[in-house]
Amino acid sequence: MVSSVNLKAAGQRRTNWAGNIVFEASEFYRPQTFSELRAAVARADRLRVLATGHSFNDMADSAGAQVSLDALPPEVEVDSAAGLVRVTAGLTYAQLAGRLNQKGFALRNMASLPHISVAGGSATATHGSGRANQNLAASIAAMELVTAEGDLVELDRADDAFAGAVVHLGALGVVARVVLDVVPSFDISQWVYEDLPLEVLDDHFEDIMSSAYSVSMFTDWRAPRLTQVWVKQLVEDPARPVPPESLAGAPWFTATPATGARHPVPGGSPETCTEQLGVPGPWHERLPHFRPGFTPSSGDELQSEFLLPVDSAVPAIGALRQISDRLAPVVQICEFRVVAADELWLSTAYRQDSVAFHFTWQPDLAAVLAVVELMEQRLAPLGARPHWGKVFTATPESLHARYERLPDFLDLARHYDPAGKFRNAYTARYLGR
Ligand SMILES: Cc1cc2nc3c(=O)[nH]c(=O)nc-3n(C[C@H](O)[C@H](O)[C@H](O)COP(=O)(O)OP(=O)(O)OC[C@H]3O[C@@H](n4cnc5c(N)ncnc54)[C@H](O)[C@@H]3O)c2cc1C
Repeated sequence: MVSSVNLKAAGQRRTNWAGNIVFEASEFYRPQTFSELRAAVARADRLRVLATGHSFNDMADSAGAQVSLDALPPEVEVDSAAGLVRVTAGLTYAQLAGRLNQKGFALRNMASLPHISVAGGSATATHGSGRANQNLAASIAAMELVTAEGDLVELDRADDAFAGAVVHLGALGVVARVVLDVVPSFDISQWVYEDLPLEVLDDHFEDIMSSAYSVSMFTDWRAPRLTQVWVKQLVEDPARPVPPESLAGAPWFTATPATGARHPVPGGSPETCTEQLGVPGPWHERLPHFRPGFTPSSGDELQSEFLLPVDSAVPAIGALRQISDRLAPVVQICEFRVVAADELWLSTAYRQDSVAFHFTWQPDLAAVLAVVELMEQRLAPLGARPHWGKVFTATPESLHARYERLPDFLDLARHYDPAGKFRNAYTARYLGR
């Protein structure tokens, strides 16, 4: 039987990556086999998976135990004919991507960092950018779920409830393995442009976001301009010349090409970022902004993010400009991205092509919460959905208004977890369960 560590007795407390959450869970399991994992789940009264802990709230906490999947065998089994890979759910994207690329395959997209786990990222509808790119969970074709009694349930796209189970906030059970769609490996070149007036977006938001495979816009709200635009272009894109004329060193929508490598956060070292200046490279070394092996982003921060229908991008930027004097003192950097619609019930892009407004904040929770509340008020009329893994203050009522399938998801949670083993303070606060 798998043993647990009693953290309270050992005088230890775990925190999330950002350090703003000290977990309450007093027991910690680290199973080394899948059967030990099932035994640990069956044994615990209350349980949550702690993956890489890159969420900025208490969603990975539990009033009982936490379990890590990082000691399980790191399986990566590619089915080339089917275009699928079956992986241990706790693998990080960095661990998976290198192995996948060696076998000639790729994931369609990645988040800004490869440090997070496949299961943890999917649980919160983590996303990258790209007009045609869905969030990372949308590539899950099947999953193995260990439910409250330690039973193994296999779900795939043929199941009615599958679309409800993929973005699960950790509330259905422990995902042990996932099967992901893969595509043949591809190469990307990345350019950074600087100083684009925000007013250019009034007429060209869509043009710029559609100009490459993945585009990210950055501003610090200290002036009405984008500080940087990161453009990730497929090297072999029949629809576009390589390099596109607009990206070959000339001004682009009045922005100027960066003359050296950049970090999106002011003062950050470009050494920690993926290669730029148009040097082609494999998908997993260009799609994330940050390289594995280094601290991503600023490293001393909180984050929030809100997703809205992409048609509301320009009005939303206008609404944010109106409070830029409140944003600027608290924000380190803000990023605009786009995410294609999907059918996953709790996805932040559920049935709507979306624009995502991400905020890397100073690590001052009280100051951040005041600005987040103000921003939520301003963006609410545009239908903003908060990123599940970041700092937000929504009520269950407002979330029900944003997610028409939330009642069905709660039924699913009652089905797989009738006694509430995977409930925690986060689900009580935001889901009313
Ligand atoms: C520097 C930085 C950059 C970021 N960039 C992006 C970005 O580009 N795009 C974006 O969308 N988000 C981004 N995020 C947010 C991050 O991707 C999400 O919070 C993600 O969910 C974290 O994954 P994790 O593996 O750390 O999961 P954790 O934070 O450990 O867990 C998240 C949730 O999933 C549950 N869970 C984890 N694994 C399992 C499992 N196997 N079975 C059941 N439940 C499970 C946990 O219990 C918890 O409820 C960023 C975060 C940081 C710190």
